[in-house]
Amino acid sequence: MSVDRSTVWEFHGGQPGTFTYAREAHPTGVEAERELAQLEGAPDSQALLFSSGMAAATAVVLALLEPGQTVALAQGGYFGTGAMLAELGRWGLRYLEFDQTRPPPDGVDLVWLEAPANPLLTMPDLEAAAAHPARVLVDSTVATPIHLRPLDHGADLVLHSGTKYLAGHHDALVGAVVSRDPAVHEQLSHFRHLTGSICAPDVAWLLLRGLKTLRVRIERQTENARLLAGRLAAHPNVETVRYPGIGGLVSFDVRGDAQTVERSTRLIKNATSLGGTETTIESRHRWEGDRVPVNLLRLSVGVEDADELWADLEQAIG
Ligand SMILES: *Cc1c(COP(=O)(O)O)cnc(C)c1O
Repeated sequence: MSVDRSTVWEFHGGQPGTFTYAREAHPTGVEAERELAQLEGAPDSQALLFSSGMAAATAVVLALLEPGQTVALAQGGYFGTGAMLAELGRWGLRYLEFDQTRPPPDGVDLVWLEAPANPLLTMPDLEAAAAHPARVLVDSTVATPIHLRPLDHGADLVLHSGTKYLAGHHDALVGAVVSRDPAVHEQLSHFRHLTGSICAPDVAWLLLRGLKTLRVRIERQTENARLLAGRLAAHPNVETVRYPGIGGLVSFDVRGDAQTVERSTRLIKNATSLGGTETTIESRHRWEGDRVPVNLLRLSVGVEDADELWADLEQAIG
């Protein structure tokens, strides 16, 4: 489909039609939302796009929780999520961190999992979380619906930074929430309309474009990542490799200085973020401090030739 950049649509006989003003909804966004909801599987699921993954995450918290309520957040997950929840402490939100490989703690109002956690790459115990009375959200940015459909495992909400694998080319900032409860969908949609955190039509179009190749990209990235994770684990200058067996994200600890390694790659780009077709590497300690080992490198594996990627990594690790 072509992108419709309109912000307004004419009324018919004095009556607003399906689309009226783009802050509420636009056709390109609705089309991308339909595609994503279908990928997440559940027949009754509905998706909403946001201007970024963090805009989506913030909307979930502000639209569905009250001051004084508590989020149980997976340890070792995306740095920005904990930072955002801490910021909202000024508005009365509480959060605590827990080991997502174990059942969530009692007395919390939302369980926030990450599949797998970026960058420590643990997988959540979805069954234990689904048995918890609170709503369960899975940030499935790294798994993508190619490897995991959390709604099928009892999750209530799926969150994506579509900026990563879904759009897939490091050229679109976009977030999404998928849910199967129509009341939750309506609350989030209303909140997005009021606060203006919808993504732009061009971005929705880039997401649609990305979704067309999602499966082939993810399969190739997973194949490459499995091979690299195996070779890294056998390398004498590598202490620890974290790889959950799915997806394109690997993290490993080197013997020596991680920042020297990230500056020594040639084919592999030294940049933040993940999920693009080109392989990137970075030390996470510069951003996250002691939440992660000082010698940890996060590798987002792209679609290049695996042997060329390994040759580059090997010369950089030394
Ligand atoms: C990047 C990321 C986010 C935040 O998404 P943005 O699109 O950068 O706002 C949230 N969760 C995970 C797991 C991420 O990797």
